[in-house]
Amino acid sequence: MLRVVRLLKILPLFALQRVMIWLIALSCLAAGPVFAQERVLGLRVGVHPDKTRIVLDLTGELPYSLFSLADPYRVVVDMPAVAWATGNGSAGAGAGLVAGYRFGLFRRDNSRVVLDLTRPAKVSRTFFLPAAAGKPVRLVIDLAPVDRESFLANAGFKGRQRIGDTGTSADRPARTGQVELPPPVIRSEKTTIVVDAGHGGVDPGATSRSGHYEKDIVLDVARRLQRQLLNSGRYRVVMTRETDVFVPLRERVNIARNAGADLFVSVHADSLRSAKVRGASVYSLSEKASDKEAAQLAAKENSSDVIAGISIGNETDDIVRSILIDLAQRETKNKSVRFAKLLLPELGGVGALLRNSHRYAGFRVLMAPDVPSVLVELGLLSNAADEKLLMSSRGRDKLAAAISEAIDRYFAERQS
Ligand SMILES: [Zn+2]
Repeated sequence: MLRVVRLLKILPLFALQRVMIWLIALSCLAAGPVFAQERVLGLRVGVHPDKTRIVLDLTGELPYSLFSLADPYRVVVDMPAVAWATGNGSAGAGAGLVAGYRFGLFRRDNSRVVLDLTRPAKVSRTFFLPAAAGKPVRLVIDLAPVDRESFLANAGFKGRQRIGDTGTSADRPARTGQVELPPPVIRSEKTTIVVDAGHGGVDPGATSRSGHYEKDIVLDVARRLQRQLLNSGRYRVVMTRETDVFVPLRERVNIARNAGADLFVSVHADSLRSAKVRGASVYSLSEKASDKEAAQLAAKENSSDVIAGISIGNETDDIVRSILIDLAQRETKNKSVRFAKLLLPELGGVGALLRNSHRYAGFRVLMAPDVPSVLVELGLLSNAADEKLLMSSRGRDKLAAAISEAIDRYFAERQS
């Protein structure tokens, strides 16, 4: 009953990108991977009368490239995988034309800085300053305001400025233009569970009261879940990510489909403005959100690609629509709901549950038409009790065990 879902028209960009990827692959072969040692020591944003200046302190010069994206206005700086002095990527507040920024690994071999702009702006100048007077090598990026029309004229992949660029695999992300969902190709004797640790790399997700990132917490829980499932001997487990790397939402869906997944579990931990609210919740896909909070959460989780500096453009609504129509995959939907209902009491046995703890909304990561999929918010990082649970090794083990138990029950029921 598999039907290929035609999501999008093929973007002409796609062919171009493939050529670029090949060129990049060749240039990498020639040059060898030499940038992994470079480190970013810091990032500053300074406001001048005529420009906003971003300075990256580096241990050495490295190839980089820049491009801009509209709606929301962003400037993206790509470079080879580098180490960050501040750890595994971070976010910060901006100044002037920069509203805020994030940096981290975008792909295994590609680090990225995403600058959120307060208004349309262009990169007016970029250059390296050599190490001098006790200061490290600096990459300087100047931004100057422009109007929306000229921003749009230069935005996107076409407007990419290649400066000293060996080209990184940053070219790949724009493959969001990619189109047909391939049919599942791998079938396993064992039941296949795809465990999806939310966010990652340049997308930190929510931040806890004490400054821990959702991306790190959920990856650890996902790994514990993976181990528990493998230990049972009953499952084959596929992870959408195993490191602190960004994975586009659609790619997560594709991983599930290509793996021939029997179940997809996306693991998250949200944060709210109110510190009082606590509890886990489980979400399944629906065209109409069950309530305002679920719709807001879906919008937040769906913004992952925007946060990581991917252009999703206008096609997004079409994708959502077409998948939701194909979501006449009623069977998939029913299975997802059944799993969600098994999962909640298990989670409730570990910590608190949100009111109306099973909700529905248009989560993009749950849109595999043929894979029962749920998104679980393990708790609220804005709440002290939930944070404590999520920051403890025991708490994480228990949460992973709750999910693992629900998975056992779900497949046991199916067999009987
Ligand atoms: Zn999340």
